[in-house]
Formats: sequence, C-alpha cells, structure tokens
Amino acid sequence: MKYVEEYLNTPVIGEYEVIVAGGGIAGIAAALAAARQGAKVALLEREYMLGGLATAGLIAIYLPLCDGMGNQASFGIAEELFHLSIRYGWEGSYPTAWLEGGSAEEKKQKRFEVRFNPQLFAIAAEQLLLDAGVSIHYGTTVCSVKVQQDKISHVIVENKSGRRAYRVKAVVDTTGDADICSMAGEKTALFQQKNLLAAWYYYATNRGYDLKTMGVADVPEEEKTGEVRQLVAKRFGGVKEEELSEMMLLSHAEILRDVLKKRESDPSCFPVTMATIPQVRMTRRICSAYTLDTSEERISFPDSIGVIGNWKKRGPVYEIPFRCLYGIMVKNLITAGRSISVTDAMWDVTRVIPACAVTGEAAGTAAALSDCFETLDVGLLQKKLLEAGCRISCRDEAD
Ligand SMILES: Cc1cc2nc3c(=O)[nH]c(=O)nc-3n(C[C@H](O)[C@H](O)[C@H](O)COP(=O)(O)OP(=O)(O)OC[C@H]3O[C@@H](n4cnc5c(N)ncnc54)[C@H](O)[C@@H]3O)c2cc1C
Repeated sequence: MKYVEEYLNTPVIGEYEVIVAGGGIAGIAAALAAARQGAKVALLEREYMLGGLATAGLIAIYLPLCDGMGNQASFGIAEELFHLSIRYGWEGSYPTAWLEGGSAEEKKQKRFEVRFNPQLFAIAAEQLLLDAGVSIHYGTTVCSVKVQQDKISHVIVENKSGRRAYRVKAVVDTTGDADICSMAGEKTALFQQKNLLAAWYYYATNRGYDLKTMGVADVPEEEKTGEVRQLVAKRFGGVKEEELSEMMLLSHAEILRDVLKKRESDPSCFPVTMATIPQVRMTRRICSAYTLDTSEERISFPDSIGVIGNWKKRGPVYEIPFRCLYGIMVKNLITAGRSISVTDAMWDVTRVIPACAVTGEAAGTAAALSDCFETLDVGLLQKKLLEAGCRISCRDEAD
C-alpha cells in the first residue's frame, strides 16, 4: 500500500457540552434529552435531513411501544416521537385502541405501532430540536476525534466549509455503526452474519401511492432462482465504502426491475422516492462491560435506563442496563441506537425505532450530566429519566 502524507492543522471553531454524532432516531432522542437537561448541544448529521434509516432510509414503520399483551413498555421520548411521527397524518396501521382509549382486550389485539410519512416526520423532528435549542449541522461528517487522557477532547468534522474541530465535554455516538467508538479506539464488534439486500421504495399509480418493503429476505424459496439467488447469497457488512456502494447499486437495479414488472399490469406505476442511505440493519456495535441477551427477559438491573418490548414476539419485555451504552476505554463517549452492547439475537430487538429512542434518551441525559460515564451517579440518571416520564423498571404496573 502506498501512502500520501498530509499536513493537518485543523481550526477549532467552537465548543459544546454535548456533541451528538448522527441524527437518526437515537440521535434525535439524545440531542433532545441533553438539551432538555440544559446542555449546550450540537447535532452533527452527514445527510441533509434528520431521521436516518427511519426517514432517509424510508423505514417508515414505528414498531410497537407495547409488549404485545396490551401493556405499554416504552415511554418518554420514545412515545413522544411516536406521536410526532404522525402529527401531520399517518400512512397506515393506526393503533386506535392505544390512541383513542380502547379496552385492554383491544390493546392486546392490535399492537402500539404505526406507519408514518418519513418526510413529515423528519421536518417535525427538526422543528422539535430547534425549539429545544439544539444546534443542527447538516452535511457534516464526523471524520476523526482527538483523544487525550482517556477522553475525547475534540470532534473533527468535514463539510462544505472544510475540515474543522469542536471542543467537547461529552460525545454521543449515534452514527448507527459505532463509527465514533471505532475512531476513538473503543472496543467494537462486527455483525458476523452481515446484512441481506433491502430495497424499500415508494411508488405511485393512478390509485394512489404505497411503500414497497422489498428485500430478498422476503423472496419465497421457489423464486430464489438465477439473479435473485445470487442476491440472497450476497451479504453486506455495512462498514466499508465498497460494500455500501455495491448495496446501493443493487438496490437501485432491484427497484427498476420491480417497477418495470409492475408496469406490465399497470402502466400508471412509477417510483416516487427511494432510500438515499443504505438500508443496513446491524453493522458494528460497542463491546462494553455488559452485553444484553434475549434470554434476560423481565430481568431487573440496578442500572436500568429503560424498558422495551420485543417487536418479533408478544410477551417479552427487557430492561436495558446503562452499562450497555458505554465502553471501557473512552470515559466521555456513550452510544445509543443500533450500536449498543447486545448479543446478535438481542441486536435484532434493540435496533428498531422505539428501542433506539429509549437508549438515545438515556445517552443524551447521561451526556448532559457527566463527562465520565463509568463514575456517573446512576441513581441521579434514573431520577432524571423518571422525571422526564420514562419507565425504567419492567416490574412497574402497566398503565
Ligand atoms: C431493511 C430494514 C427494515 C427495517 N424495518 C424496521 C421497521 O419496520 N420498524 C422499525 O422500527 N425499525 C426497522 N428497522 C430498523 C430501524 O429503522 C433502524 O435500526 C433505526 O431507525 C436506527 O436508528 P439509529 O438512530 O440507531 O441509526 P440510523 O438511522 O442509522 O442513524 C444514523 C445517522 O447517523 C448519520 N451518520 C452516520 N455516520 C455519520 C458520521 N460519521 N457523521 C455524521 N453523521 C453520521 C447517518 O446519516 C444517520 O442519519 C429496519 C431497518 C432496515 C435496514
């Protein structure tokens, strides 16, 4: 490998108490929670809209806030964002029983989930954060960090203005891929099974518009022939440019193929929008002092920061220990969303929108309170979360 040497003398253009890197669901929740605790917060987002996979990635299904048995599991910002996602209207799966005072039996029948419009949700989230005093920086990629004495002292970004740095007290990594943790030298793990191709897109016909949730994982066995079989065999890790580019190219080709096929029976069909970021589920996560597993259903942890249900199964609820959010090496760095410390089985549960909001709120609150997460007074963090309307114990009586 050949190298080119660069001389870097990066200007420090500002200082924040909390920098949230990545404006997906976890980042929105973290920035909002930190700002509500009175911290000076910057949210740095590589794209030009908030929401990450949920909006730019067109994953417009807010999976359940409930346990599937008629009890609400997740509260706080997770519930607030649920309502925000449909403030200007919903697109499907409206949970009447939950939003309009249904009976316990009705809540058991229909889970507390909804389909929202991604663009309206992104704009509503932006307005919410601006109102809370969060400084939003778009088109801004965190490309490096400076670590001094076990703490990140500066976050280095690249955007249209060039390469610049911010001084910082605490950093929340909500890039979805634990990018900042990896840059800072924190211990991380990759998802070994890697991701199958997904190509969700919106299309319109004379009869209206709809979301096509297309992924080769959904292809029936008998249709897994030729090109499709090759796609099923193909997996994408999600932390390498080459793989992500290939994934986007293949997803575009699949969308074209699917639309042209639809047009054979309905010539009025055309695509309206497609994902502008790769639809990867699990990529890289931190390895912290505690790694949560699906077997730890209804287990109480002394450092629980929130409760989530299981979108895949009715019944299980989980407390999330605070230890799953921060690593061992870098004291003022915390993560939330797709990259917390969980086993592969649990990863599929914690990566979804409600869980990302729960961990985001806890990470943002913690970042506003401390610049050393291993010594943070967890009782104080829990008190703040309870005051903000969160539920932290799975033993609490359901509403
Ligand atoms: C195909 C598919 C189907 C899914 N189905 C559902 C579903 O039906 N319902 C559900 O609830 N969940 C679903 N999920 C999961 C869910 O959408 C996501 O896991 C969740 O939205 C992730 O939120 P996040 O904030 O952790 O990460 P992300 O949404 O990935 O957000 C990370 C953000 O960080 C930004 N970023 C990344 N790197 C940098 C950097 N270096 N500097 C600055 N910004 C950066 C990105 O642009 C992005 O905005 C699905 C996911 C996929 C892929």
